[in-house]
Amino acid sequence: MQISQKCLSLQKKINCNNYKSEREVLMKTYDYLLSFNVKPSVQRLAIMDYLLTHRTHPSIEEIYLALCDDIPTLSKTTVYNTLKLFVEHGAAQMLTIDEKNVCYDGDISLHAHFLCKKCNKIFDLPAPEEDVQVRRMQENAFQVDEMHYYYKGVCPACKQMDKEQAN
Ligand SMILES: [Zn+2]
Ligand SMILES: [Zn+2]
Repeated sequence: MQISQKCLSLQKKINCNNYKSEREVLMKTYDYLLSFNVKPSVQRLAIMDYLLTHRTHPSIEEIYLALCDDIPTLSKTTVYNTLKLFVEHGAAQMLTIDEKNVCYDGDISLHAHFLCKKCNKIFDLPAPEEDVQVRRMQENAFQVDEMHYYYKGVCPACKQMDKEQAN
């Protein structure tokens, strides 16, 4: 059997059973961490897995609360240190858009963020197509390693709610 056929039948089986094994997901996260030279441990796997499956830009507190039941040995300090390690290795991004609450993003692609000041949700937006400022800096021999695009305001849902309350 060809590999592609094998994959297909496996895929079918998974779809039929509507079953995505937890182990399979963890193996992906395991490989993901290895690809960033992060040695996978149970706690690191759990935290990375949470980041990859929750694109809500969670804070340390949120991740800790979500995982502490399953991993009783987990502490907030471990969560903090683990996230710091991920950021250092480029496996996750740290966002400082909310100055009261540093949060983390498992999506490491370049994108912009919008913080709603009413509901505190952080939205993903495409990054500016052409960054004139960066181009100018590079022309002047600056090496730009990081770009952060932060916008703040009121999201459409909250704006709508305000409008309804005003009526
Ligand atoms: Zn909002
Ligand atoms: Zn994001």
